Amino acid sequence: MEEVPCDLCDSDQSTITYRINVVESNMRYYRYARNVPDREQMTGEQRIVTCSNCGLIYTNPRFSPGELQKVYSSDRIIGGNWKNFPYLFDSSQPDVFQSGQKSTSYNPGLYQWKFDIIQHYTGKKTKGIRLLDLGCGDGKFVHDALQRGYDARGIDLSPDRIRKGREVFGLDEERLRCMNADDFSSEDQFDVIVMWDIIEHVGSPASILQSIKKICHPRTLVFILTMSVDSITYKLFGKNWNYVNPTQHLTYFSHRTMREMLQKSGFQLMGVEMDDSRRKNVIHLVARILLGQANRFFFYVYTRKNFLRKLFRPFQGEITDERMHIRLENLYPGSYIGRYHDNFVFVSKPEK
Ligand SMILES: [Zn+2]
Repeated sequence: MEEVPCDLCDSDQSTITYRINVVESNMRYYRYARNVPDREQMTGEQRIVTCSNCGLIYTNPRFSPGELQKVYSSDRIIGGNWKNFPYLFDSSQPDVFQSGQKSTSYNPGLYQWKFDIIQHYTGKKTKGIRLLDLGCGDGKFVHDALQRGYDARGIDLSPDRIRKGREVFGLDEERLRCMNADDFSSEDQFDVIVMWDIIEHVGSPASILQSIKKICHPRTLVFILTMSVDSITYKLFGKNWNYVNPTQHLTYFSHRTMREMLQKSGFQLMGVEMDDSRRKNVIHLVARILLGQANRFFFYVYTRKNFLRKLFRPFQGEITDERMHIRLENLYPGSYIGRYHDNFVFVSKPEK
């Protein structure tokens, strides 16, 4: 762990915004804990601070760059949908990521909203557009982009995910590579660079933006998807917002701090688009809260009343109590009130 200055203005003056006990925030902890080299570091109080000078919200102290590299290049990286990790639920399954086995077929609807946003800025044409997915995971988006005619490539730190992607989608080394953003030479230029849910995880957003600068030409468009503290749900739930997660999310941008971060790194903000949560409505939000509370209650009873555990044992099959815990905690945690007007795509281009 290390103390860092503000990534936006370099000030080391900040005020503590949230103190979060990571042990209590179960879902966040378990979702991530398997990748952490030293579990002890994750436990206890974690702090999210606000820069006194520019207002950037960030986790401090946090994992050092070396530790982050270790975490994200881990074979057991857990991100996204917990349903893709069957070993959490079935002890007979090996301890590996298993997503994508059934998803080799092309589903044009899955990322439609992302392509809609890209095409809003690039026009309908896809042929010949060189697209880079930075932090591509198993490369599903790269696969979809290729299907749509883009000249797409993806890079990720996790060798496990890259290996899986090559296996599942049949992508070769040219398309899917395990590497850092700054390993590109300046001859590798892209027309479109996408970073889906990446920037909030990296140690220094400024340096990642600077390292992609060299693979941009003057008309390159950069699409950054991240949660924003200007969202309705953050304003409603504050500390209980789904994305307040100090071990995983290191920077919490607002629309303003994102614009300034882009400016600092030599990019100009062209527009802010809302993610697919615009399709969700108030009924969806209320249902999530109710389901979350019901699950929280069930979990409480389950972990404290032995008779309920015995009652459920026949239905658990091979699942151990420990895994059943994790499963319940992940199912619909009460604090999970995300995916409702909280993620935005920040579209930018290099400054002239
Ligand atoms: Zn600052």
